[in-house]
Amino acid sequence: MRKSEPHLRANVGGARNIARKLLKDAQITEVPVNLRKVLDYLKTRHDLEIWRFPFKEMDGMLVTIDGQPTIGFNPDTSWVRRRFTIAHEIGHFLMGHTCNSNENAEAEAGQFAAELLMPLAFLKVDFPNEPDLEKLSYRYIVSKEALTWHLMDCRLI
Ligand SMILES: [Zn+2]
Repeated sequence: MRKSEPHLRANVGGARNIARKLLKDAQITEVPVNLRKVLDYLKTRHDLEIWRFPFKEMDGMLVTIDGQPTIGFNPDTSWVRRRFTIAHEIGHFLMGHTCNSNENAEAEAGQFAAELLMPLAFLKVDFPNEPDLEKLSYRYIVSKEALTWHLMDCRLI
């Protein structure tokens, strides 16, 4: 069974719409999505901070430090993985999920991250032109696995 299947009660459409709104608000008009630009927008608009945390067993988390929302991420993972982790935590932040996220919240954050880094509007154009998933994943700076799941979730394959 695919990882995302037990999460069908999650609000997938809502999560994707929030990602699309963020892309628009942060004026992202091309891929790969410039996550720095997205984070700069979130800092200006929501005072969201981002820090490197010395995690050992975690990729990232969303915390509040002295009232300030902060994304912590593990700097010792690959760039591709860090991008997805940060996008995932942004999803938790914008959807108001608490630290003790449930399964649906995790699924929503995952769908948000996928849509943020692989916007369907871009994929619909790019995928027919570049059906090689390896090459397409480089273009979006995502893992081939994440790309494959998103294409399946969006019924493009
Ligand atoms: Zn999460």
